[in-house]
Amino acid sequence: MSSPASILHDVFGYERFRGSQADIVDHVCAGGDALVLMPTGGGKSLCYQIPAIARQQADHGITVVVSPLIALMHDQVGALHEAGVEAAFLNSSLSFDEAIAVEKRLQRGELTLLYAAPERVTTPRFLAQLDALAQRGQLALFAIDEAHCVSQWGHDFRPEYRALAVLHERYPAVPRIALTATADALTRADIVERLQLQEARQFVSSFDRPNIRYRIVEKKDPSTQLLRFIEQEHEGDAGVVYCQSRKRVEETAEMLAGQGIQALPYHAGLDASIRQANQDRFLREDGIVMVATIAFGMGIDKPDVRFVAHLDMPKNIEGYYQETGRAGRDGLPAQAWMAYGLQDVVNQRRMIDESPAGDDFKQVMRGKLDALLALAEATDCRRQRLLAYFGEDSRPCGNCDNCLAPPQVWDGTDAARKLLSTIYRVQQKSGIGFGAGHLMDIVRGRQTDKVAQFGHEQVSTFGVGASYSEAQLRGVLRQLVATGAVGVDAQAFNTLHLTEGSRAVLKGEQQVLLRESISQPASRKRASGRTSAAPAAAAGLTADGQARFAALKAWRADVARSHNLPAYVIFHDATLAAIAAAAPSSVSDLEGISGIGARKLEAYGEAVLQVVAEAG
Ligand code: ADP
Ligand code: ZN
Repeated sequence: MSSPASILHDVFGYERFRGSQADIVDHVCAGGDALVLMPTGGGKSLCYQIPAIARQQADHGITVVVSPLIALMHDQVGALHEAGVEAAFLNSSLSFDEAIAVEKRLQRGELTLLYAAPERVTTPRFLAQLDALAQRGQLALFAIDEAHCVSQWGHDFRPEYRALAVLHERYPAVPRIALTATADALTRADIVERLQLQEARQFVSSFDRPNIRYRIVEKKDPSTQLLRFIEQEHEGDAGVVYCQSRKRVEETAEMLAGQGIQALPYHAGLDASIRQANQDRFLREDGIVMVATIAFGMGIDKPDVRFVAHLDMPKNIEGYYQETGRAGRDGLPAQAWMAYGLQDVVNQRRMIDESPAGDDFKQVMRGKLDALLALAEATDCRRQRLLAYFGEDSRPCGNCDNCLAPPQVWDGTDAARKLLSTIYRVQQKSGIGFGAGHLMDIVRGRQTDKVAQFGHEQVSTFGVGASYSEAQLRGVLRQLVATGAVGVDAQAFNTLHLTEGSRAVLKGEQQVLLRESISQPASRKRASGRTSAAPAAAAGLTADGQARFAALKAWRADVARSHNLPAYVIFHDATLAAIAAAAPSSVSDLEGISGIGARKLEAYGEAVLQVVAEAG
């Protein structure tokens, strides 16, 4: 049988394994069980695809891949075909005759990998097929993708996964590999127990995604901020914009489209056929921006998503990390950008308060929200905080907004105390609470109608904070609400009130530190992001190289369309960029380029050379 390294090179065209891939592949090729925890984009597929090929060559038969995402199977099988690997899928999208044809190929030993949905795998009909293979010693491996689906502690519990334990009970000699990108200790233990993986070796990778740059900006005029971000740093790139509500999705997609950006909406309220069409375009075409609720993204393995933007804050760090993790699976630079403001804090707190859940559950939700708020308010390395949340120690990363442009920090404690005493005094004077805008007007000494109406110019703190800008006070208030030192009454027009936590700030026991850039955002030049409009993959290319890259992309789009596959299945951007840089003139020039395996070289080598020659 070929060595894993030669399969990696010859079939997939890659030079070396990433991270723990080599260890995992060796272990599974040798017939061991494995539980693999690797972040999105870490390269989990090769961990079972290479053992599948190696074990097939050694006459162990077929690998069955259990995958919950029917929509993905077609593209995964297509990608294997492009690499010259015999694969097929069985799911509800096939007609009866098509399914029979796949079963025949299965029994004839023509397949290396078979993808199947979990509910299909555990049917008597399918198990009978497996029995026949097992009797001939032709069941090489079970790969269970998205293994967290077996656990109700994971975020995507699927009861069908529970039935997969039958695979081990029925075929104890067949090795298994279970893979997931999301599993805390509780979920991991559950996976082991439910799938009977007690004997499996566990491979736990770091959850860091070093190529993703984290940025959190103060929310002012979010639509304009988003538009600038895309225009200035991601022109022509594929990206995902997450919004909380369907309405906001629609408005944002429309706004971007009106500005000439190829943006499409996606949310659960859209007709299923429109959703599917939009998702297909996102996967298949270059440079589409998907504006979506969190209904979008599960199982989207498009590798060249260059940015994920949050117009509204998610509920917790798990959600944030999962959503941002959809950027940059190909390992090239990508950005996670979020606009964050007082309203996000108020909304998220209110959603917890108003949820019908029990108090214990709400307490857990509040704790999780607090951790995300601390990340958003942080003036130090964001990545360090993210990884710490997942139990990993790390050093400042050098690739987040705070590392790249360490924010000037100003002490907002004095302003905070003035705001808190104002909240106290107006409540005493008028017997009711007031909202943020009015309270800030009092502190700044502004003679508004409302101030006159309630006689609030007589409050002793009227005008004591005249030197602060509204932006500064707003930042202070946001942090006070974020840390719980001020409460918001959602039932009463978002009026503010003091809490237990106010005391420490009032007594000067707790400092309120704010980033300068938040209070003076306009004066600071953007410190990060690409300056040219060149896509990330092509960033280092000369002008001629850019022309070749563009020509190669156009060629790739044609091929992808005629094969009914996403462009990245033909070649990744990084591979096209490497070709554009190398300006090859012969097939042998193409050989060393990452992402060109033997099959693709044979199928596309000549065409690529011609495109390069014509582009000059
Ligand atoms: P995951 O399933 O862990 O999110 P994938 O298996 O989809 O990740 O891999 C992410 C991307 O990285 C894919 O496009 C894959 O082709 C690429 N990749 C994986 N392993 C390697 C490697 N050793 N060298 C180069 N590229 C790799
Ligand atoms: Zn950092």
